[in-house]
Amino acid sequence: AKSAGGNRFELADAEADARAITRHGLTTALPAALERGEFFIEYQPLVHLGDGSVRGAEALVRWLHPQHGVLGPDRFIPLAEHTGLIVPLGRWVLEQSVRQARAWRERHDAAGPLRINVNLSPCQLTHPGLVQDTVDILERAGVAPDALCLEVTESALIGADDDLLKPLRRLAEMGVDIALDDFGTGYSNLANLRRLPVSVLKLDRSFTQSMQRFPADPVDLKIVEGIVALAHSLDLAVTVEGVETGAQAEQLRILGCDTAQGWYYARPGPPERLHELALVDAAG
Ligand code: C2E
Ligand code: CA
Ligand code: CA
Ligand code: CA
Repeated sequence: AKSAGGNRFELADAEADARAITRHGLTTALPAALERGEFFIEYQPLVHLGDGSVRGAEALVRWLHPQHGVLGPDRFIPLAEHTGLIVPLGRWVLEQSVRQARAWRERHDAAGPLRINVNLSPCQLTHPGLVQDTVDILERAGVAPDALCLEVTESALIGADDDLLKPLRRLAEMGVDIALDDFGTGYSNLANLRRLPVSVLKLDRSFTQSMQRFPADPVDLKIVEGIVALAHSLDLAVTVEGVETGAQAEQLRILGCDTAQGWYYARPGPPERLHELALVDAAG
């Protein structure tokens, strides 16, 4: 048993080494990958729970690595944050997404404008160019600020002082929506919400998962009900993520959530897919 344990330990060690090497390799490859155009964006629809219509999409970045294939953001966003590459990468994602939103609008105005949600990392928040870059990108694409929603995680804003909130306030004043992402996973100080320039709460997937069981845990139901009531009383819209079944969607609709996102509607996919979904939706 002892030697098996030893082997296991060595194996774990080797795996840790391999991971570290890959991590190092990926980190050093990031800048060239951005220049060579190895990143691409998938879009996942945001659906109105009341009438089922597609209202927009969240942009989710991927890396088509020449050796490792498609890598999800969890593999490289932390590395990009660590090296600061997240600033130019995030700017690229924003520019692509806003241009995509423009293209959707052109082909699709009958069903109303589709909105675009883009994730913002904490490093981008503290970068002095954020507001100007965003203004420039919107202007270049001819997209109105109210078609854009920037998603910031709750943890990035915990204990945020006024300096950190200033650029978000500026953007919110211009009409850009700010969403509080992964809401309910941090040390949510609900009273703090009033201070933040947010207009959307994105309820974390863990809440959606607890709606899987039927009947759902009555305490979970109460919590979601309470969050929705509080959000609405503060004029915030509630989006739920990770909806995988119709039962979850129905439960969350009854609880008063406004918008939903998840595999039940569509996995993240290429931009043409969103166009098709929105079009079918408009026709039906
Ligand atoms: P997130 O912002 O919370 O995005 C939602 C994640 O849940 C996405 O994972 C999405 O593919 C996944 N998802 C959507 N529907 C379902 C579902 O029904 N069930 C389950 N199990 N999962 C679902 P993804 O694409 O791997 O992205 C992971 C995280 O990476 C994102 O979490 C976000 O924090 C970050 N990320 C993605 N794109 C960007 C970006 O452009 N910039 C920054 N800073 N972060 C990004
Ligand atoms: Ca997000
Ligand atoms: Ca989220
Ligand atoms: Ca998340």
